Amino acid sequence: MAIRKFRTWGRRFSLLKKPEFLIEIFASFTREEDYPLVPRSTLHFHKFKEQCHLLTESRTSWSLISNMLTQILVPYHVQPFMIHTISTRAHEIAGEPENRNRNTIPILVSLTVEQEPFLEDQDEPEISDHVLQLVRARKSAIDELEKVKVEGCAKPCVICLEEIVNGSEATRMPCFHVYHESCIVNWLEKSHLCPLCRFEMPVEFS
Ligand SMILES: [Zn+2]
Ligand SMILES: [Zn+2]
Repeated sequence: MAIRKFRTWGRRFSLLKKPEFLIEIFASFTREEDYPLVPRSTLHFHKFKEQCHLLTESRTSWSLISNMLTQILVPYHVQPFMIHTISTRAHEIAGEPENRNRNTIPILVSLTVEQEPFLEDQDEPEISDHVLQLVRARKSAIDELEKVKVEGCAKPCVICLEEIVNGSEATRMPCFHVYHESCIVNWLEKSHLCPLCRFEMPVEFS
């Protein structure tokens, strides 16, 4: 239902000739088979046209990019870093002097998704399922997240892929997944699901 709504907006706005991005996404899905040990890969390609400001404002960009990735069947758990990167780059590209007066700004996105071999027998993800789950977490639940001191081997935060430095303070979800505080707060303001395991945080109106 949400996808249909975005399409309608896109058409209405294009009549006003506001600048838009032409986004071409090439997603390569690789899967290593046990026998023979040769990676198989399939390529998914999709073109999207979106108003520039919808893609550069954090209020709208995360759900918009997540919808695009879901349409080309990128699994939810690998989306956080891609969304972070695409929205950041889109913002930079829109601000480049040579793009200021263009009506259409082309963006090429090339991404690789490594699939687990056991996923082969599973059903294709249901698109409506993913789209409906982009509901922000309740503010009080975000405020109450546990702060922990990171000890032991340093791990990357899957949202920004930067290391969570040993000895620093990080934020732990009730499912025990740990992220940088700013990364997970920003994420939960768009989606109430843990980026790693889809643990459900309480939502605003329940
Ligand atoms: Zn982070
Ligand atoms: Zn989790």
